[in-house]
Amino acid sequence: AERESSLIQATPKRLYINGEWVDAEGGATLEVHDPSTGRLLCTVADASERDGWNALKAAEVAQPGLAAMPPRERANILMRAFELMHERKDDLALLMTLEMGKPLADSYGEVTYAAEFFRHFAEEATRISGSYQTAPAGGARFLVAKQPVGPTILITPWNFPLAMGTRKLGPAIAAGCTSVLKPAELTPLSMLALADILHEAGLPAGAVNILVTSTAGKVMEPLIRSGIARKLSFTGSTGVGRKLLEQASERVLRTSMELGGNAGFVVFEDADIDAAVAGALLAKMRNTGEACTAANRIFVHRSVIDEFAAKLAAEMEQLPLGRGVQEGVRVGPLVDAKQLAKVDELVTDAVDGGARVLLGGAPVDREGYFYPPTVLTDIPSNARMRQEEIFGPVAPLTPFDAEEEVIEWINATEYGLVNYVYTENLRRGIRVAEAVESGMVGLNQGAVSNPAAPFGGIKESGLGREGGDTGIEEFLETKYIGIAM
Ligand code: ADP
Repeated sequence: AERESSLIQATPKRLYINGEWVDAEGGATLEVHDPSTGRLLCTVADASERDGWNALKAAEVAQPGLAAMPPRERANILMRAFELMHERKDDLALLMTLEMGKPLADSYGEVTYAAEFFRHFAEEATRISGSYQTAPAGGARFLVAKQPVGPTILITPWNFPLAMGTRKLGPAIAAGCTSVLKPAELTPLSMLALADILHEAGLPAGAVNILVTSTAGKVMEPLIRSGIARKLSFTGSTGVGRKLLEQASERVLRTSMELGGNAGFVVFEDADIDAAVAGALLAKMRNTGEACTAANRIFVHRSVIDEFAAKLAAEMEQLPLGRGVQEGVRVGPLVDAKQLAKVDELVTDAVDGGARVLLGGAPVDREGYFYPPTVLTDIPSNARMRQEEIFGPVAPLTPFDAEEEVIEWINATEYGLVNYVYTENLRRGIRVAEAVESGMVGLNQGAVSNPAAPFGGIKESGLGREGGDTGIEEFLETKYIGIAM
């Protein structure tokens, strides 16, 4: 407990604007809570509209300098930040668990994952290149160059407080784009700690500005509509994403949108059942189910569903639940009372419609926002959880009989982020992976997130890809220079 309070004490709590820590206008603050107890952790500066303009102005002024900085120098800053994140991983992980609730093991995993975006994009920074070509009819040459899009606005959610930030900041810095990053108000501390690291790594003033605010809509809308930033990158719910796309359209900003998901997880009769159980456990329980990639609908062939359900429930039952900071805990609290109420509502709705509870099924009676690992079968087809993101440790199982049928069910959603397919039949695996409507597919694996792979969705799950060799393209403009000969 002493280590927790001294860490909170040492964490920056002001806005990071133009390379300096500043108070919000009028000294305004917002509260940050520990979801495992519901208690106050600390207060941090709460930015006003004017603070927002200051941050954007700083990004605008710093833009030419960052664009002109040699790529190798930008890469070196990212590499130093990568190393500092590893040096401070104990603090970063604990801080994340305190503000967000996820078990320490998950937080350590996220620190590594988050840092990897900096290393990946450090390596990409020096590989930005163009092309040179003779016009097909001759008589001219085409020179194609890449340039940073300009200042960016980056908005991130609370479920991965560090990684969703580095996934945007890494390519932005690598490409030479300055930014105003607004972390979620529920979990601002991780990004504030990261600002400290970027500062120490030698990032020039104004290149990254961190704006925490309890009034995101009011503060961000005028900034987006101003057109000073040329790019908006958002990770969050589809509803907010839709609103931001409309705002970005006013000045035709480039946009990247990582929105909601409704992942299907299919277990065919020819799957390795133990591997499928392990995969489902990962796809369901990582981050206590609070991930847009979480398995939201689990379809199991009728001939193996009983075996699968029994094994999955047995595994989930064994996961220790408690404060994420406690050794060995695998199930933390949900992030807040609202999230807990939503999970409870979705389970109640399914059970009222006829679903059967194999495990869990009601909130845990203790302080904090705990929902236990839950396994449901016989989910009615009109249950809300067939369409809505659960964002909690609830595994809904539905039997299916035929491949065509399950593909149809999987695609019967407006989302298209990721689906998981378990089969030992290679041809079937490829066939189904091609047929499902999603930006990503886990074939015999329960996790797809990797900084070196293109992460993103289709349909209403979003626009663009993050990570991989295309992630940096989202922050680059293509310029064609036609040369008369
Ligand atoms: P979640 O459901 O995961 O909380 P949200 O889409 O509500 O997802 O939030 C994701 C991020 O978007 C957070 O940083 C939040 O503060 C921010 N946000 C929410 N509403 C708006 C808005 N109207 N304008 C700008 N940012 C917003």
